[in-house]
Amino acid sequence: MDPAARERYRKRLLELKAEMLSEGDIEIEPGRQDPTAITVDDDAQPLVEMSQAIASSRNRNRAQVLARVVAALARLADSDDAFGLCVECEEPIAAKRLDLMPYVELCVECQQAKDGPKSPTGRRHLRDFK
Ligand SMILES: [Zn+2]
Repeated sequence: MDPAARERYRKRLLELKAEMLSEGDIEIEPGRQDPTAITVDDDAQPLVEMSQAIASSRNRNRAQVLARVVAALARLADSDDAFGLCVECEEPIAAKRLDLMPYVELCVECQQAKDGPKSPTGRRHLRDFK
């Protein structure tokens, strides 16, 4: 991937991260050293744990996307090659797909193989075990 494209994705990922953090009420992975994470002293910890416990599933989904955004930024920072490659088959992920979701880990083929073409539960081979 050329440096201009990498920089474009890096900016987009940072924007996504800032957007999600600015919406608030999001679970921050404990122990993650993140300069954008809120610093919490010991007195505030029980309150933080309570608010994390009551976080809605929407917030959990957002937290999952945030985690993927953070992971994608790490891939961008770690290696010149890891970002934009499928973590399963190591083939390049289509630029169109990356433009939509710069945090994706899987190419279309591997995502479909994982999800299954028709059954979202991945149980399409259940009958095979009879
Ligand atoms: Zn793949």
